[in-house]
Amino acid sequence: MTQPAPLAGQYALVTGASRGIGQAIALHLKSLGAFVVGTATQSAHASQITELLGDQGVGVVLDVGQPDSIAQLFEVLKERQQLPTILVNNAGIVCDQLILRMKESEWDQVINVNLSGAYRLSKACLKQMASLRWGRIINISSVVAGLGNSGQVNYAASKAGIEGFTRALAREVGGRGITVNTVSPGYIDTDMTHVLTEEQRQQVLAQIPLKRLGEPKDIAGIVGFLATEAADYMTGATLHVNGGIYMG
Ligand code: NAP
Repeated sequence: MTQPAPLAGQYALVTGASRGIGQAIALHLKSLGAFVVGTATQSAHASQITELLGDQGVGVVLDVGQPDSIAQLFEVLKERQQLPTILVNNAGIVCDQLILRMKESEWDQVINVNLSGAYRLSKACLKQMASLRWGRIINISSVVAGLGNSGQVNYAASKAGIEGFTRALAREVGGRGITVNTVSPGYIDTDMTHVLTEEQRQQVLAQIPLKRLGEPKDIAGIVGFLATEAADYMTGATLHVNGGIYMG
């Protein structure tokens, strides 16, 4: 007798699924049997996500920095009976600058998308998860939260914030059968790291015991694990997936 797919019947919302890590997560959760709603900031990219996910998902437009955008999406999801039982807060941006040159707007923008976005989406999902007494919230942090990185005070603060947010929320909602965990990637080969110069890339590689940058699928596999029954007793955790560059 064939076993049902591990996430059959679940609805996963993956923010920032147009490329990179988010796209790999969306495809992996689909392969585990979930119906996946993947988000992009532009409608052309949302259509590409729809094509990629076929009959087991859909692409939608969302800006996690805009509360109205989230409210509109949840109206639609409610109507379609696709309210998430699994949320992956993956959308993230960088806006690098040394602190003395960093404008308030550059600080605010990164905190608003990376940290406040996760707060808004989690809040929007909790009612449905609590009523089902089952839910998974998986946040994507960064190795920079632990290591620090010159030129990234805004990004590091947002990602360290995500880890604290995860622990506090895990305590708040554990009694409702909802787990909240963080996956903290190291340097992963995506658009975000394509801005590194060859010299910077070599410097990074020299510090990674596994001697390579990560691939989006390296992160997607761990997110998939957290979404499945295998991780039922894990909450408030931060899983470091970084080739060994940081072992905190
Ligand atoms: P990426 O290739 O730059 O993709 C970023 C994704 O976030 C895109 O899908 C983008 O959507 C979406 N996004 C950006 N602003 C958004 C907003 N305001 N609202 C909704 N979605 C938004 O990044 P990545 O490397 O895959 O990174 C994914 C996550 O992993 C981020 O949280 C990042 O901080 C984290 N991370 C990455 C690395 C790395 O080395 N790559 C390391 C540690 C952590 P559009 O395409 O529609 O703009």
